[in-house]
Amino acid sequence: MAVAGTSAEIRSVRLEKSRERPCNLGDYEEVLATFSWAEARAMLDGLPGGGLNIAHEAVIRHSLGERAETTALLWLGKRGERRAISYRELADEIRRFANVLRGLGVEPGDRVFVMLGRVPELYVAVLGSLLAKAVVSPLFSAFGPEPIATRLKIGRGKVLVTSPEIYRRKVAQIRGEVPDLAHVLVTGRESGDGTTALQPLLEAASDQFETPPTDPEDMALLHFTSGTTGTPKGAIHVHEAVVAHNVTGFYALDLRPGDVFWCTADPGWVTGTSYGIIAPLTNGVTNLVLEAEFDAGLWYETLEAEKVDVWYTAPTAIRMLMKAGKEALQGHDLSRLRFMASVGEPLNPEAVLWGQEAFGQPFHDNWWQTETGGIMVANYASMAVKPGSMGRPLPGIEAAIAKHLPDGGIEIVEAPMVEGELVLKTGWPSMMRGYLGEEARYRKCFVGGWYLTGDLAKRDEDGYFWFVGRADDVIKTSGHLIGPFEVESILIEHPAVAEAAVIGVPDPTAGELVKAFVALKPGHEPDEALRRSILGHARQRLGAAVAPKLIDFKANLPKTRSGKIMRRLLKARELGLPEGDLSTLESDEK
Ligand code: AMP
Repeated sequence: MAVAGTSAEIRSVRLEKSRERPCNLGDYEEVLATFSWAEARAMLDGLPGGGLNIAHEAVIRHSLGERAETTALLWLGKRGERRAISYRELADEIRRFANVLRGLGVEPGDRVFVMLGRVPELYVAVLGSLLAKAVVSPLFSAFGPEPIATRLKIGRGKVLVTSPEIYRRKVAQIRGEVPDLAHVLVTGRESGDGTTALQPLLEAASDQFETPPTDPEDMALLHFTSGTTGTPKGAIHVHEAVVAHNVTGFYALDLRPGDVFWCTADPGWVTGTSYGIIAPLTNGVTNLVLEAEFDAGLWYETLEAEKVDVWYTAPTAIRMLMKAGKEALQGHDLSRLRFMASVGEPLNPEAVLWGQEAFGQPFHDNWWQTETGGIMVANYASMAVKPGSMGRPLPGIEAAIAKHLPDGGIEIVEAPMVEGELVLKTGWPSMMRGYLGEEARYRKCFVGGWYLTGDLAKRDEDGYFWFVGRADDVIKTSGHLIGPFEVESILIEHPAVAEAAVIGVPDPTAGELVKAFVALKPGHEPDEALRRSILGHARQRLGAAVAPKLIDFKANLPKTRSGKIMRRLLKARELGLPEGDLSTLESDEK
């Protein structure tokens, strides 16, 4: 569906809201003035003595109250299966899982990795682990053996919950590298090959499990994310994070009890946990889970048939819906849809307006990242939307634009529309508490009480934030953050590859694609067979979601005098952009 107007014209549009539609936030300025984290905490029950447990807030408390028979999870399976699991039933299931862990000798603080598609066992495993005070670490099911092994090693995974098929294809071969991994629980009834079937364990387990005393600062979640260099970083989140999950679900996603909510994020990434599991349940809604992958027709059918009230999706999916055209949407009654939001990558203004044309309302972009644990900047149901802007900070969050000073400090820029790093004043509940085992890397994220996000942005005169780009070299492809170093490390293991550099190149649908430049060892010819061989090697080790889609051969890669490959220069040349400061350039391809 074409949207009229140039990008610049579209960016100057302002979509005003009708005051007649009530929403949780109401008047932004008013809430901003009165908001306190203490009050946000009071929206939850807590545990005796000031404790707080995510699973208790998400499931157990509802199972004991008026929402006990409300559907907590509405699961739509790939083969047309349909399961409605009430809060009461889900509470029983997660207590059983907690007992399974206890039976295996899993102690509070032990790490449980979960690598599954959108199946009911995933939700039970995540929430059951949190109830038992084990630390949950989600793994993306499209990861290959290498990213899985790296994360299990860093996180010292004791338990892995996965499917027999994922285990066979990707985990069995790296099992010897992860000696801490004591138990692999596989969905279904078949044990074997070093795995234990989960279903019989669940059936044999008691559904009685008292929520243990949980300190709000107890580690709850370990989310891996990537930087420009080095191994993936395990961002630590604690049970206190649920205060932010809950209140952002309430204000930024406008969740209300009784709503049907659909978050399309993959459960292997942070959105799939914070908003695919925790926030909807703490807010007492029916959390719709569609197991199948993207399909425009199926998505529209699901929105209509399940009477979805609030829909949280991502730019890549929205662009794929746009590609599918008006025809796919025709005949569907989506009048029930009250609010649509998007996250994870830049949402182009055309997509926001397409939402307005196609659904009668814009997509509401919001911004956050693994480290922030929850939504930080958002377009709200009650506030005018400026297409292309990420919106305004959540009440309770102070966001600003900062310039870096030569002495290592930062200066907050007050003037509007000046580009700088997006920084957040520290102190919200879902802020990461560290990168596991990497104190120095963690400390580098903070200057003078501000958290440095690594994103470049601008703030306009109305306080709306506009995304400009990343300050580092990480790549966002289909909403997934990829660290170039992890990909390069695997490429240079190929016998023909001497050096590799990986960048993101723009793609109209996926946002960016992973592209590798490789220099070959003497005696190897850059031909199609070798390209295929290198791509195959990367795909097999990293998994299709992380491996490069494109490979270019170069005689040499540009390097600094200290021998660092200049990815930025490769990117500038690839995109025909100014090459910038070349004073440190030592060797070059030219
Ligand atoms: P992750 O930690 O994988 O969730 O990735 C976080 C990063 O995704 C951010 O630092 C941004 O670079 C990008 N991102 C997330 N939301 C948005 C958004 N609404 N607009 C632009 N970029 C976004």
